[in-house]
Amino acid sequence: VAPPPTVLLGNRFARELGELALPWQAEDAPDPRLLVLNEPLAGELGLDAAALRSPAGLRLLVGTAVPEAATPVAQAYAGHQFGGYSPRLGDGRALLLGELEDAEGRLRDLHLKGSGRTPFARGGDGLAAVGPMLREYVISEAMHALGIPTTRSLAVVATGRPVRRETLLPGAVLARVASSHLRVGSFQYARATGDTDLLRRLADHAIARHHPAAADAEHPYRALFEAVAAAQADLVAQWMLVGFVHGVMNTDNMTISGETIDYGPCAFLDAFDPATVYSSIDTGGRYAYRNQPLAAEWNLARLAEALLPLFADDEERAVALAVESLGTFRPRYDAAWVAGLRAKLGLPASTDDAAVTALADDALALLQRDHVDLTSFFRALSAAARGDAEPVRLLFLDLAGIDGWLDRWRALTPDALSPDAAMDRVNPVYIPRNHLVEEALDAATEGDLAPLERLLAAVAAPYDERPGLERYAAPAPQDFGAYRTFC
Ligand code: AMP
Ligand code: MG
Ligand code: MG
Repeated sequence: VAPPPTVLLGNRFARELGELALPWQAEDAPDPRLLVLNEPLAGELGLDAAALRSPAGLRLLVGTAVPEAATPVAQAYAGHQFGGYSPRLGDGRALLLGELEDAEGRLRDLHLKGSGRTPFARGGDGLAAVGPMLREYVISEAMHALGIPTTRSLAVVATGRPVRRETLLPGAVLARVASSHLRVGSFQYARATGDTDLLRRLADHAIARHHPAAADAEHPYRALFEAVAAAQADLVAQWMLVGFVHGVMNTDNMTISGETIDYGPCAFLDAFDPATVYSSIDTGGRYAYRNQPLAAEWNLARLAEALLPLFADDEERAVALAVESLGTFRPRYDAAWVAGLRAKLGLPASTDDAAVTALADDALALLQRDHVDLTSFFRALSAAARGDAEPVRLLFLDLAGIDGWLDRWRALTPDALSPDAAMDRVNPVYIPRNHLVEEALDAATEGDLAPLERLLAAVAAPYDERPGLERYAAPAPQDFGAYRTFC
């Protein structure tokens, strides 16, 4: 058996936080076949794409042959799932292979999903089907191209092992890259052990990897918490601005780095409706589009609770400090949301916040009333800024409503007639639309990867409109119907 490609995989997490790291091995993959490889990302990580494509490379990407020095582990974490606490979740079907240093000297986790049962698997089979792993690949790479912090996808390899879901499906392993896989749930787990030294080591590890400035703050652990709150406020504001619905914002699916993680039931809004829920299991609408900022704040409150022993020895004092620090989330979120809207509307920096939100709120109300596609509206607005309002007007039934709104918008836009390309850099033309994602995954499951490759090419440059890609810019066809996702 050829040795795996030369990959220097560190085991810093496993060494520093052994209590959260269970050494484990991937299950055998009878017939590994590469479905998609992210060559630019491989390059960023200093990995040789040709070596990854080799049989030994594929065994690395499914975890069955790893470099000798590596220590693959399943990570332990807890989490609130839909509000209910589970003390022991952890990587039930995933493994951290180790950390590698990227071209810029940053540490990145190389992680596998769908690599077989671990001691955290509970009732699960430890496996993943081709469709959901390709879904994570395409949506995470689209998010990255949109400029939204996210875990990345390096490769999806079909295992040759069938997976039983409603039907038998082809199995796959996703190789994922993240600046780390530390989650709010990691802190909840550490806190629940009652071992304050472990909690402190975890916090120190998180500071070193993600928020190094906190180390020099007067209160490093509060500074860590506030840095996480700020990163999450910025992240969720970006989700809201592009119409991304995460779908399963449990505390085990919220990172400390501020990267989007866990692309199970997520989807992008078509017609704007703040109550939108796609996930079949989110029956109460807890993670509906409009609830996402509140869900993030709720999760941060759980993080603050986990960190209490590090905030102060006296519990009452620690709680008071936690409440104060949690209070930084809302203003940060509001500022990110307004700044984002200002840019999307092409309004000058001098437009005050209240005017931006009033104008945006009214636009969103018009969109909701006429079931207008969110992405199409904002993109069409740059044509209106160049003097052609027809693409915007075509989206609406209520022409008097949108004409009145456009007049108010123009009154706030001194440069309305000088085309502002900046709007095209914040309003994407191509997002991974639900009907296109489904089409691509269905074809891939049947063995045809061409639609997936075309979709990936479109969403890889979401702001640059190109000829021939019209169907990737168009809203879902009327007969696509209500969209449901499963995870
Ligand atoms: P998620 O909802 O995807 O964040 O997953 C929640 C928990 O369920 C995590 O601990 C996962 O590792 C675990 N899990 C999800 N699917 C499986 C599976 N097929 N086999 C084993 N564990 C799973
Ligand atoms: Mg998860
Ligand atoms: Mg998941």
